[in-house]
Amino acid sequence: MTHLTKARRIAAAAVALLTAAAAGITPAQAVPQSGPRYSPGAAGSGDPYFPYAGNGGYDVLNYGLDLRYTPPSDPGAAGNLTAEATITLRATQDLDALNFDLRGLAVTTVDVDGKDVNRGAGPSEWAQVQDDVNRRWELNVGLRPKVKEGQTKTITISYGGATGRPQDTTGALCGWVTTADGAIVVNEPDGAPTWFPVNDDPEDKATYSFRITVPEGKTAVANGLPGGDPETQAGWTTWTWEAADPMASYLATASVGDVTLSYGEGTRGLPIINAVDNGVTGPALVKTNEALALQPQMIRYLSHVFGPYPFEAFGATVDDDSVDYALETQTRPVYSEFADEDTVVHELGHQWFGNSVSPADWKDIWLNEGWATYIEWLWAEHQGKATLAKQFTDAVAELDSKNLWALDISNPGGTTCSPSRYTAGEPPRSMHCGSGSGMRPSLPGPMSGWTATAIPRQQPGILKQ
Ligand SMILES: [Zn+2]
Repeated sequence: MTHLTKARRIAAAAVALLTAAAAGITPAQAVPQSGPRYSPGAAGSGDPYFPYAGNGGYDVLNYGLDLRYTPPSDPGAAGNLTAEATITLRATQDLDALNFDLRGLAVTTVDVDGKDVNRGAGPSEWAQVQDDVNRRWELNVGLRPKVKEGQTKTITISYGGATGRPQDTTGALCGWVTTADGAIVVNEPDGAPTWFPVNDDPEDKATYSFRITVPEGKTAVANGLPGGDPETQAGWTTWTWEAADPMASYLATASVGDVTLSYGEGTRGLPIINAVDNGVTGPALVKTNEALALQPQMIRYLSHVFGPYPFEAFGATVDDDSVDYALETQTRPVYSEFADEDTVVHELGHQWFGNSVSPADWKDIWLNEGWATYIEWLWAEHQGKATLAKQFTDAVAELDSKNLWALDISNPGGTTCSPSRYTAGEPPRSMHCGSGSGMRPSLPGPMSGWTATAIPRQQPGILKQ
């Protein structure tokens, strides 16, 4: 992820850590295994930050996502998604039920290996849980016959509903974010369930096949490579994309808009596909084109430093709308409003660090960002702009000047909370409070009676974020 300014990016990293520390969450317990003992897969994969994200008991091999999307009729209105997900998975324990994560969309049918499952509360039926307060969004599927460890199953789920502008725990836009001309789709950290049923655990990587049907004239851009030419019928165009490299769910994308696609090549014929929103114009387009033109050189340089580029394709999706940050969606990062050189090399660096080599738990996300920030400095040094040492020193000075090293939060209620939006020296504008069992939505600001006090850096040169 890259925020539009470095200060905001650094603040977000600090907030992510503080938010997690405040959550006070109990991870889901693994089900003990001994012989053929059927039990439900866990409703969470045990991440301390996001206890109900991901699920236990299985490993997804492939997501086949067939999406039909109607963008909003008026800017600011909801879009509409009608979809079918075909999920091929392998049981990692003896299962009599399993869960997927799905947020804000209604399931209409579920089948397992072509056999319908009924809706209901019984052990062989399916049911949904939508608990926004605890960020617990589950589709529970009873399995009859039960599934033995090692068996492969194909589960097909029809679902749909209105699309809005979902937020993550810090209040940032995340997931399937509806825009005036389509959607900008960025999942980090837990946005994938806003558009498909998923084992939303970064450890469960899978391949993806996308069929995205949109009104004729719109373009849909996902990860990987085109599966064929777009096909138009009765005013609707279907775009197909195949992502053959295993991918974490937070790195999937399927952005839709009024877009111009361009095709180029990097080292050893690597396909580079850029999708730039037609609403990106003027200086933003000049800056974007200059940055994207450097992609082949950047890939060559980083391949020289870190080893071969790890995936089948690269490129960019640049949306004229904004979620206020860029994201390293696998093979095709998403940029808000424009792409610039620092951000493009940052998101390219994530293809090695974060996407190919990945954190098992969200608490280690700083490793992704640490490497990507280092790579920005390496590239700038390579381009003769400034030494790496000077860039590091400047970054430390910027943190000092903004007092962004750490915050000591006090509040009138005595609960444990973390700021999600703040300026040092001012009251935080919103807070997230640990409830013991999950995250609560942010409280509206400004928070009268609350104070945020910057704690000065203790040890020179040691980053506290
Ligand atoms: Zn990043």
